[in-house]
Amino acid sequence: MYIESLEIKKNKELKPCPFCGSNEVVLEWYIHHADQRRVRCLCTNCMAMVDAGWWQNEWQPIQAWNRRVPAPRNWIEAAIGKQWLWPPTRTGRRDGRDQYSIKWADGTEGDYYIDYDSETIETIWEEPYEK
Ligand SMILES: [Zn+2]
Repeated sequence: MYIESLEIKKNKELKPCPFCGSNEVVLEWYIHHADQRRVRCLCTNCMAMVDAGWWQNEWQPIQAWNRRVPAPRNWIEAAIGKQWLWPPTRTGRRDGRDQYSIKWADGTEGDYYIDYDSETIETIWEEPYEK
């Protein structure tokens, strides 16, 4: 199937990539076939993608991309390829969520929103915020 890309768009509602953590996540409008426009969502860093093949509204790939399922900590670590030094340090609260600083075994760290029940992570995404 030949796909012709029409337009690449940023959307601030899109959460970072759950696989590589990149914020380079975009919506892409493309020609599916016979002049039918479709839209999908992809990470331009690792090429993770959600594409039902029939979406014609931007909210559809946005909703699919932003969906997060509860995941054990070792799944997160496997997905991003770094070991997470447990436990995270709680740094504050915003929008009804506890916010944490996470240290990774490679010496890097980052600030994240996490919902977790013991070591099961409900959601994880990095967001800029004021300290
Ligand atoms: Zn990615």
